[in-house]
Amino acid sequence: MSVRNILVYGDEKLRRPARQVLKVSAKIKSLVKDLRDTMYAANGVGLAAPQVGEDLRVFVIDVADEDQPPNPIIFINPVIIKKSGATNSYEGCLSFPDAYTDVRRYEYVKIKALDINGRMFVMEANDGTLLARAIQHEFDHLDGILFIDHARNRFKADKELAEKKLLPIDPTRLIDEPQLEEAIQVKSAEPAE
Ligand code: ZN
Repeated sequence: MSVRNILVYGDEKLRRPARQVLKVSAKIKSLVKDLRDTMYAANGVGLAAPQVGEDLRVFVIDVADEDQPPNPIIFINPVIIKKSGATNSYEGCLSFPDAYTDVRRYEYVKIKALDINGRMFVMEANDGTLLARAIQHEFDHLDGILFIDHARNRFKADKELAEKKLLPIDPTRLIDEPQLEEAIQVKSAEPAE
């Protein structure tokens, strides 16, 4: 077991696009183990290789409840093949100690990836569940994208970052998502049942 250091926002390595894994070698398996150990040690639901300084397209997610047995899912060379709907929720990241903000995400994603044995699998996550959100969040890390780049309110997010003594948002990194924003507003305007 090896718990690695998690890079904190501001570290340039978090902004570096990661490389494809050419072979699920012993080295990759050992990285996966470290990601899992590090994620559990930090009480996270997901961790991507760039967060421990490795520029490889690998991440792990475990959204099992605390009273459930651990259920880590490993994604190697993932590709999001379908996405739809929109949802808004509070989100955080192990690279942003204690900072949370409103983030837009798709409600539904379908992803394909290689597992720890190098076999391809396809997974769907619906209804804006934690799994759907975690997949999008971790996938972004592989392209150097961070959750604050999806922030719905830049100024609110900046306030939160300043309180946690983290760097402000880089406005040039903000992702414009008018179609998601519109869908979220239509949904929140619907009367509650
Ligand atoms: Zn993260």
